[in-house]
Amino acid sequence: MHDIIVVGAGPAGSSCARQLAKRGIKTLLLERDSFPGEKNVCGGLLTSADLKELRPDARIVQRYLDGFIVHSPLHNKITAKFGKVGASVNRNQLDSWLAELAVSAGAELRVNTTAESIEIGNSGVVVKTTSGEERGDAVVVASGATSHLSRSLFGDIFPKQDMAMCFQIDYKLKEDEGEDAKYFHAYYSKSIGYGLGWLTPKKNVGTLGIGVPIMQGNAVKAIFKNFIGEYEPVLREVIDMDKPVKREAAVVPLSTVPKKVFRERALGIGDSANLVNPFSGDGVYYATLSGRIAADVLSNRDYSEEALSQYQERINAECKEAFDCCYAFQKSTFSDLATTEYMLTHDHESTRTFLRDWIWDKTMTKPTLSEKAGMMAGYAKAKLMSRLTGISV
Ligand SMILES: Cc1cc2nc3c(=O)[nH]c(=O)nc-3n(C[C@H](O)[C@H](O)[C@H](O)COP(=O)(O)OP(=O)(O)OC[C@H]3O[C@@H](n4cnc5c(N)ncnc54)[C@H](O)[C@@H]3O)c2cc1C
Repeated sequence: MHDIIVVGAGPAGSSCARQLAKRGIKTLLLERDSFPGEKNVCGGLLTSADLKELRPDARIVQRYLDGFIVHSPLHNKITAKFGKVGASVNRNQLDSWLAELAVSAGAELRVNTTAESIEIGNSGVVVKTTSGEERGDAVVVASGATSHLSRSLFGDIFPKQDMAMCFQIDYKLKEDEGEDAKYFHAYYSKSIGYGLGWLTPKKNVGTLGIGVPIMQGNAVKAIFKNFIGEYEPVLREVIDMDKPVKREAAVVPLSTVPKKVFRERALGIGDSANLVNPFSGDGVYYATLSGRIAADVLSNRDYSEEALSQYQERINAECKEAFDCCYAFQKSTFSDLATTEYMLTHDHESTRTFLRDWIWDKTMTKPTLSEKAGMMAGYAKAKLMSRLTGISV
C-alpha cells in the first residue's frame, strides 16, 4: 500500500513523485517503458524558465542557447537574444535524470509497468497494471496527452480541434556551424499554413520539426517535405539535410487551461491535464510546475474534492492568463500569415517582448492585463496595416 501512486515517469510524474517523496509521502511511480524517456518525443528546448524550475545537471544539457530566431512567412529573420540562457536536451536523458532524483528522494520507480485502469473508491484508489493491482490513498495521472486514463477520470479535456500532430527529424549539424546554431528557431511557413516549424540545435544534431492541426495528421510527412523544400537554403545554414539520424511523430495538445483536472483522490498534471503552452508547444516547464503544485496540495493528506480544488486554483493563477493570450496568438498568427508578416517585420520590439516574457521567462515576468490588451491591440493594428499595404504571403 502506498500513499500516492503517480502514473507516468515523464517530467510531470517524476517531478511530482520527487516532491512527494521529499515530504515523506510513500510514493509509487509507474512507467510503461523500460526506462523513463525511452520513447518520449520532444523538440528538446528548455527555456530560461525551465532551467530555473529544473536546474538540470550540466551533463544532460546538449547545448546552451541564447534565444530565439523567428522566421517570418516571407523568411525575414527576427532575432531575439535574451542574454539569459536556455538549453537543449534529449528526453531520454532528461527524463531518466528526473526519475533518478525522484528515486533518490525516496520514491519507488517501477518500469515496464503500464497502468490500465484506475478505480476511485471511498477509502482509496486501485490502479490495475500489467503486473497486478496497486492500492493507494490517491492517484496522480501523468501519463501524457494520449493516455485514456486522464479522459476516464476528468472527461474529455482535449478539444480535438486544438490537438496538433507533430513530425520531426534529427539531422547532423553542419560541421562549420555559425552563429545561428546558438539559437532555437521557429518558422512560420506557407507550406505549413496553420502551424509552426522548429529547429533545436543540440550537441551534434538539430531537431527539425513541424506541428499541424490533427485533422491534417495523415498529411504531416508531406507537409514536412514541402516545408523543408520551402526553407531549404535557410535550413542548410545550420543542418546537413543529407544526414537524417532519427524520425519521430507524436501528438501535443495546444489548448487553454482545462476547467477541471481534479476530483476526489485524483489530480491530472502535465500533458495529461492539457498543460502545454498553446502557442509555442512547450510543455516541459508546465509539466514540472504542475507536478510541484500537485505535490504541495497532496502533501496536506486531505484528498477530498474540495481540498484538491486548490490545485486547480493554483494552476489557473500560474498559467491561465498566459495560456489564454498564447492561445489567441496561435489562432490569429497561424491563420493570417499576411498580418503575421507585417507584425514580425514592423514591430520587432513587441515580438521580442512577447517571446521573452510569455514564452522564455514565464515565471520571472508575468504579463499584465494591460500588456495582454496592448499585444492584441498591436495585432489588430498590424492586421489593418497589412491590409492597407497589401502584403500578400
Ligand atoms: C514533437 C514534440 C515536440 C515538443 N517539443 C517541446 C520542446 O521543445 N520543449 C518543451 O518544453 N516541450 C515540448 N513538447 C511538449 C512536451 O514534450 C510535453 O509537454 C511534455 O513531455 C509533457 O510531460 P509529461 O510528463 O506531462 O508527459 P510525457 O512526457 O508524455 O510523459 C508521460 C509518461 O507516461 C508514460 N505512460 C504513458 N501511459 C502510461 C501508462 N498507462 N502507464 C504507465 N506509464 C505510462 C509514458 O511512457 C511517459 O514516460 C513537444 C511535444 C511534441 C509532441
